[in-house]
Amino acid sequence: HCGFIAIVGRPNVGKSTLLNRLVGQKLSITSRKPQTTRHRIMGVDTRDGYQAVYVDTPGLHIEEKRVINRLMNRAASSSLTDVELVLFLVDGTVWTADDEMVLNKLIKSELPTVLLINKVDNIKEKHELFPHLQELANKMPFVDVVPISAKKGTNVDTIEKIVREHL
Ligand code: GDP
Ligand code: MG
Repeated sequence: HCGFIAIVGRPNVGKSTLLNRLVGQKLSITSRKPQTTRHRIMGVDTRDGYQAVYVDTPGLHIEEKRVINRLMNRAASSSLTDVELVLFLVDGTVWTADDEMVLNKLIKSELPTVLLINKVDNIKEKHELFPHLQELANKMPFVDVVPISAKKGTNVDTIEKIVREHL
């Protein structure tokens, strides 16, 4: 059981922080400054008979478009073997036009996608947790929706479980 898992989202939602969590080391530079991740960075998690290759993408936005194009080409070319699953990362406290753009690309790609609502450590009241969720779920059938904190590690084990089921 082995495959590629793409971590996508607009800049600054926490993709690199999540990659580092998932592979348990500081592979990808994280920063408050958008566009810190300039290249695709991969991390491999090998254990219990499975191997997940996580691909941290630059935030989808300008140059990053090429990455998603590649994902979509793969989707289109029926050999979906390259990307088993997409982890679509959003910031639980903000929704922007860039998120919308990423969402639309993912809808077109028809790749199985898990919505990860990140930075829940910043959310004090439950009702603040992503008010756009229902609207989003209506637009795209997510494999699952998981509130996480990449920074604190909250629910990262849940992500790993879902990933394992898709390898
Ligand atoms: P990327 O551009 O999507 O790769 O985002 P980064 O991983 O570089 O993170 C952007 C900023 O968000 C950094 O300052 C991170 O420390 C911060 N960040 C990432 N995950 C979390 C989280 O779960 N909670 C909080 N509070 N901050 C986070
Ligand atoms: Mg990054």
